[in-house]
Amino acid sequence: MIQIIRKEECCGCEVCANVCPQNCIRMIPDEKGFLYPRVDEEKCTDCHLCEKVCPVANPQEPDECRTMYAVQNKNEQIRKESTSGGAFSLIAEWVLARGGVVIGVAFDENLQAIHTATERVEGIAAFRGSKYVQSHPGDIYRKTKVWLKEGRWVCFSGTPCQINGLKKYLVREYERLVTVDLACRGVTSPFFLKKYLSYHRRKAGKAITDVRFREKYYGYGYSTMKVGFSDGTYYRAGMESDIFLRSFFLDLNTRESCHECRFKTVGRVSDFTLFDGWHVGKFKKEMDDDAGTTFCIIQSDKGMDIFKKIQEKCCFTEIPVKESLELDGKMIFSSVTPGPRREEFFRDIQNEDVPEIQKKYYPLGIKRRVLSCIKPTVYKIGLFRCYMKLKERRESGRKLY
Ligand SMILES: Cc1cc2nc3c(=O)[nH]c(=O)nc-3n(C[C@H](O)[C@H](O)[C@H](O)COP(=O)(O)OP(=O)(O)OC[C@H]3O[C@@H](n4cnc5c(N)ncnc54)[C@H](O)[C@@H]3O)c2cc1C
Repeated sequence: MIQIIRKEECCGCEVCANVCPQNCIRMIPDEKGFLYPRVDEEKCTDCHLCEKVCPVANPQEPDECRTMYAVQNKNEQIRKESTSGGAFSLIAEWVLARGGVVIGVAFDENLQAIHTATERVEGIAAFRGSKYVQSHPGDIYRKTKVWLKEGRWVCFSGTPCQINGLKKYLVREYERLVTVDLACRGVTSPFFLKKYLSYHRRKAGKAITDVRFREKYYGYGYSTMKVGFSDGTYYRAGMESDIFLRSFFLDLNTRESCHECRFKTVGRVSDFTLFDGWHVGKFKKEMDDDAGTTFCIIQSDKGMDIFKKIQEKCCFTEIPVKESLELDGKMIFSSVTPGPRREEFFRDIQNEDVPEIQKKYYPLGIKRRVLSCIKPTVYKIGLFRCYMKLKERRESGRKLY
């Protein structure tokens, strides 16, 4: 039976709970809010299936990646709603057009990030946008297998560990399965997100209707955290001031297994790997429009076939693998290092409220307050992009000598 001795060895993909024929594995949150399997030993028949499907214990050798493209969805509204260039929606729509099912991560009515499915184009909207928190897959792997056995097309999107877990669960390849994974920095604690959102709910005195971790209101280069309320009002703050985004990028609340992620390889078992294309201008100037670009690694022949069929719906250009990874793809091949105050952070979020956490871990002194006031305007009028371009030009000039 599955036993987690070191937390680094469980990515929380929940595949073990899905495969158990006795249904005797439950996922239980630890004190940090991350789920781990707990086996009911009375019911367990020692079939060892849970150990065999664990993707961390049995990582699958990925193939070499095929090629890489910078992609921008031609539908500007979809691109705006997406984290990067809206490539995921193109793949998902292609599958739906074949009567398929699309599986992705959306918020449920309790604002918990869960894996769920849709058969309708409008349903993809809820999957758009990265939710920087660990999602709860529930029984989605079981459902996926049923749809595949019925002969349907299925697009399954998730973190690399979830895609590896799915492949282990399915055992064999399915022609009609399309898998999409991400360059995943790591996943954060659902407990802290819950605390953060309930703070905003209390402060506003209104229900939360929308959460966006990378809203592009000020542009792609300055994507912001947005919490929208039932009356149309909202909280919006940039990375330099929002405590949830800061805790993520300071690696204060990532899961233990993300520090030793086994799936950080350029070649993957998926069909597509997606990540942010901040430096698209280096490869094609016209695409550098501050509205978002997905860098898309084509990982399989199936991925390549599908990409050829969706090309008419996007602006794209082939980009060199090595250079693109060096510029924007570090998280494809390296794991995050836990922040030095991570343990202290997790202890504090048990008792302290969000303003105290903010004060302790990311105090908003005068400089940061001024910066967060002027930054949106500087971005809106394009000054920041000019500054960044000048800086890059100076640095690349320096590199020549
Ligand atoms: C937790 C997380 C960490 C990431 N870290 C990086 C990074 O370090 N560097 C980088 O370049 N890119 C990272 N990405 C990927 C990036 O944010 C974009 O999702 C990606 O570029 C695809 O953008 P898009 O516009 O094509 O699709 P989008 O429309 O943004 O589609 C989002 C896709 O992500 C899936 N998804 C959303 N939230 C989750 C979740 N919590 N768990 C699993 N799947 C989810 C959705 O189902 C959908 O398929 C991360 C994404 C996530 C979810």
